[in-house]
Amino acid sequence: MSAVDDVAAEVKDWLGENWDPDLTVGEWWERLGTSGWAAPALPADAFGKGLSREESVRVQRTIAEFGALGAPGGLGLLLAAPTIATHGDEAQKQLYISEIVTGRKAWCQLFSEPNAGSDLAGLQTRAERDGDEFVINGQKVWTSGGQVADMGMLLARTDVDVPKHQGISYFAIDMHQPGIEVRPLREMTGRALFNEVFLTDARVPADAVIGGLNNGWAVANTTLAFERAGLGAGGGSEAGGAATPGTVAGNLGKRAGDFVQGMSQRGAAMPGVMSGASNRLLVELAKQHGKIDDPTVRQDLMRLHTLNEIARFMSLRQKALRTSGGDIPGLGNIAKLSMSQILRLSRDLGLRILGPHGTLHAYTAEDRTRLDEATGQPANAMVTEMALFTQAPSIYGGTDEVQHNILGERVLGLPKEPSNDRTTAFRDLPKNG
Ligand SMILES: Cc1cc2nc3c(=O)[nH]c(=O)nc-3n(C[C@H](O)[C@H](O)[C@H](O)COP(=O)(O)OP(=O)(O)OC[C@H]3O[C@@H](n4cnc5c(N)ncnc54)[C@H](O)[C@@H]3O)c2cc1C
Repeated sequence: MSAVDDVAAEVKDWLGENWDPDLTVGEWWERLGTSGWAAPALPADAFGKGLSREESVRVQRTIAEFGALGAPGGLGLLLAAPTIATHGDEAQKQLYISEIVTGRKAWCQLFSEPNAGSDLAGLQTRAERDGDEFVINGQKVWTSGGQVADMGMLLARTDVDVPKHQGISYFAIDMHQPGIEVRPLREMTGRALFNEVFLTDARVPADAVIGGLNNGWAVANTTLAFERAGLGAGGGSEAGGAATPGTVAGNLGKRAGDFVQGMSQRGAAMPGVMSGASNRLLVELAKQHGKIDDPTVRQDLMRLHTLNEIARFMSLRQKALRTSGGDIPGLGNIAKLSMSQILRLSRDLGLRILGPHGTLHAYTAEDRTRLDEATGQPANAMVTEMALFTQAPSIYGGTDEVQHNILGERVLGLPKEPSNDRTTAFRDLPKNG
């Protein structure tokens, strides 16, 4: 048996002794999180088991196959926990990571601002010291899950007299306070996944600085690296199980077993682009809509299959190289670009297959039921939903243009754009707005 099979057998034994569908979600996640199986890729001193990525993917699959509820999803587990495990002190690991792996707290990422997205280091939210606390003033935007978050990974400026990358600190901030206002933003899919967040004299204790004062840029880059790795692997901002962690969503007191069915339904609602699931869906749709003999549709289905296969082989190659201590520079950026390309092709092909039906999209659950009945084609909604969402992945986690810049500068060694960012104090730099 391989090491991965050993791990699968171990988690299966553990599930046999511990899984009980009649526990509440909160009780189950307490067991899973404190055992190390919720986030097994984290180090053992940070509520994990120090497993490889391949082993931890196998753990997740084994939990799903066993029919148990998976680990609490969201940005806490995906981004905050590994960042705090890398840069946090012992007390921070104990406090924040234990709350994440047990699903007690949900997190959001308070990075982007109206004038600081691609140029994230240009952020203007200020954090000023006041005794044992910092006082925060500013505005964040595109904050995914901000409306259900208990905690935020906050980047704020703590020194304006040094170059912009050097005066930023990374805080763990409590979202439940009068100084924080979260306003949902409606997207063109009809959903409101992200928000504007206004911080007005919000407070955060000084011991909630992660990775040291004015060292926030290095800490943020760790978060961004975990984000890119998750996205390139086909995950997303909302990776995780069907139950939502944290105190706001209200799932913690519900029966754990009731969310297990939801996991497979959720998987079907957003086809996995990197797994080829969308390819199979599109083949089926082309048959149903009488387009499977159209040579241009067939050609694009093959292009999509080829791109998915190349992405899969690249990921396998990277895994094999990592096992032997090697790496492919820039592969994370390339994987993200490839995901954007696959999504765009899926969108164009899907809409071509649907024809005029592709112009019909339901924005609420009730309208969706009516539309499904009217067209007799419930799969249509997946295509229109994906088509409307396709713009997002080429923007979040660093836009396609920014990925190209990184590849050009850091991998190909092309000259950087001229800039005085690294030599001039932030207060003296020109600002956007
Ligand atoms: C669905 C979604 C969820 C998100 N969730 C979060 C979240 O939870 N937390 C968070 O903090 N942020 C989040 N974001 C924000 C995301 O990280 C930013 O949108 C992204 O970094 C781009 O920033 P911007 O929107 O300000 O665009 P800008 O930076 O203003 O860019 C505008 C255009 O200019 C191009 N451009 C900018 N600079 C360069 C350059 N140097 N060279 C070439 N082209 C350039 C860009 O590629 C883009 O096309 C989310 C975004 C989306 C779409």
